[in-house]
Amino acid sequence: MGIIKQKEKGLLIVVSGPSGAGKDTVVSEVLKKKDIDAWVSISMTSRSPRGSEENGKDYFFVTKEEFEENIEKGNFLEYATYNDNYYGTPKNKIDEYLNKGIDVILIIEIQGALQIKELIPEALFIFIMPPSMEELINRLVNRGTDKPEKIISRFKRAYEEINEVTKYNYVVVNDDLEKSVDKVAAIMKAEKC
Ligand code: 5GP
Repeated sequence: MGIIKQKEKGLLIVVSGPSGAGKDTVVSEVLKKKDIDAWVSISMTSRSPRGSEENGKDYFFVTKEEFEENIEKGNFLEYATYNDNYYGTPKNKIDEYLNKGIDVILIIEIQGALQIKELIPEALFIFIMPPSMEELINRLVNRGTDKPEKIISRFKRAYEEINEVTKYNYVVVNDDLEKSVDKVAAIMKAEKC
């Protein structure tokens, strides 16, 4: 008698952390690991592209009005405002990947993460913490992508986000990129055991 093993559903992983903590870099390095099979959701935003960002790769860049039309149509799994702009996770591709057994990673801020926690409590929540607030402000200034007033509001928001850290399953302090990447990959693998 044969046992038919169904392919397991992928895991939904939410990665948050203050702007400048290095979430995107950590996730893109995790994806390079051979034993990780994951897809990063591409969010929609009403903020303008910065630097070398490309539409459809980094974000789907839309106007405020277009974003609001998508809200009305119920196209988002979650959405939030951050620094006077909308950010949201389009629903359409998520189930497709999860059903194929591929993990789906959402790199989102805390309000959105809390919405996901309500909807899908079994998702995995990882918070990437900067090594210190001094280091965080240095990173925000040195990356040179935001105007000073935006840097200040991102920095203030960082304090609010760090206050919510206990709502996450894991906290990874990103003081060494390679170690942080290994830790996030290990957490993802352990969750499947
Ligand atoms: P940034 O402007 O630096 O690209 O993003 C600002 C914040 O919005 C970051 O914390 C980023 O992770 C978050 N973010 C990006 N996409 C989404 C999304 O789809 N939903 C939510 N709630 N936050 C997002």
